[in-house]
Amino acid sequence: MEQADVTIIGAGVIGLSVASCVANGSRNVALIERHASFGQETSSRNSEVIHASIYYPQNSLKGRCCLEGNELMYELCGNHGIPHRRTGKLIVAVNEEEEARLPQLLETARGNGAKGVRIINAEEVKSHEPNVTARAAILCPTSGIVDSHNLMRYYERSALEKGASIVYHTEVQAVEKTSGAYLLRVTDTAGREYDVRTRVLINCAGLESGNVSAMLGIDIDAAGYRINYCKGMYFRVSGSISRFPAMLIYPVPPWPGFVGIHTTPDLGGGMRLGPYDVWVDQMDYTVDESLREFFYRSTVSFLPFLKKEHINPDIAGVHPKVQKEGEPIKDFIIRHEADRGLENFINLVGIESPGLTSSPAIGRYVAAMVDELS
Ligand SMILES: Cc1cc2nc3c(=O)[nH]c(=O)nc-3n(C[C@H](O)[C@H](O)[C@H](O)COP(=O)(O)OP(=O)(O)OC[C@H]3O[C@@H](n4cnc5c(N)ncnc54)[C@H](O)[C@@H]3O)c2cc1C
Repeated sequence: MEQADVTIIGAGVIGLSVASCVANGSRNVALIERHASFGQETSSRNSEVIHASIYYPQNSLKGRCCLEGNELMYELCGNHGIPHRRTGKLIVAVNEEEEARLPQLLETARGNGAKGVRIINAEEVKSHEPNVTARAAILCPTSGIVDSHNLMRYYERSALEKGASIVYHTEVQAVEKTSGAYLLRVTDTAGREYDVRTRVLINCAGLESGNVSAMLGIDIDAAGYRINYCKGMYFRVSGSISRFPAMLIYPVPPWPGFVGIHTTPDLGGGMRLGPYDVWVDQMDYTVDESLREFFYRSTVSFLPFLKKEHINPDIAGVHPKVQKEGEPIKDFIIRHEADRGLENFINLVGIESPGLTSSPAIGRYVAAMVDELS
């Protein structure tokens, strides 16, 4: 049997950040991941945007983690050579009706703590992005993009340097609460089955976070922890590379709960459109080619250089949502489950967007919770 003071399940961007913040040289920290390497699921299937907290209420955990994460992310990337770019973002209005909605959007963004946001006119839009057409826009200077793979590699290295052990190819199958500890039944890809005994357990299992909660005997429907899958699909744009905007270009949200099909530049000079989200019953990463027309129509009004034949299906990622289709957006769940009789179990459920941006803040937040347990 293996022993640990703190065991973290899941080496996505959240588990890795938590491991690098919780490890301090004196604790015995173990991070268990079922795949051969880190970030094989949602953490490598997203827009890689450093969000500015335009849409997340400041008093929500999402809003707080996003705002703090935004600042910490630039600091971290700058200090450790992680490729990133503070691109800034434009939310563009292409007609009179959309332009009339900008002041309200600006108020929401300011109320949510987004820094330096302001409305700019068509001329200023052109001065930032000559190939984008808009009557006016909201300029958001603190948005950016980050190389998520290198971010995760940094967290992994940092955790290892502080003495954490990371165990790949190993899946947690069951968890049993014993007196003063948790007993994890794990299997590895060689077919070995063994137990890990840990005093503190942290669930960072992403799309499986509901199932891991269930392993601890939590009624996930009553608790609101059941994970629902919502697939976000991207199309990649080829050709016209010299015309790609350097900034993130978002439309005025076309309907409540949807920020609209937007551009996501990558650090290599390429550009994707999306994501467009659909609810799915099962894990599925296919991208529906018949959406080409919809992606084109949704973006050509502000990206007039686009040609339909230059838009091709790219990747998809799945959001781990605790709300069901049609329900209002819910907050991140990060809690010590002592009131359910699960002392020393810290549970992270439904860490959807802006999870990547929030990762440095979530790492600190969880480390402070662990310190309180010690
Ligand atoms: C389409 C899309 C776009 C997004 N865009 C952005 C964006 O631009 N900016 C932003 O800030 N956020 C964005 N997000 C959100 C962000 O990607 C996620 O919040 C973040 O990646 C979640 O990380 P995680 O570590 O919680 O989950 P994951 O990356 O899914 O990691 C969980 C890990 O747990 C492991 N695991 C699960 N069960 C077990 C088990 N039983 N035993 C061992 N290991 C296990 C899995 O294998 C996995 O590696 C986006 C998400 C999606 C889907």
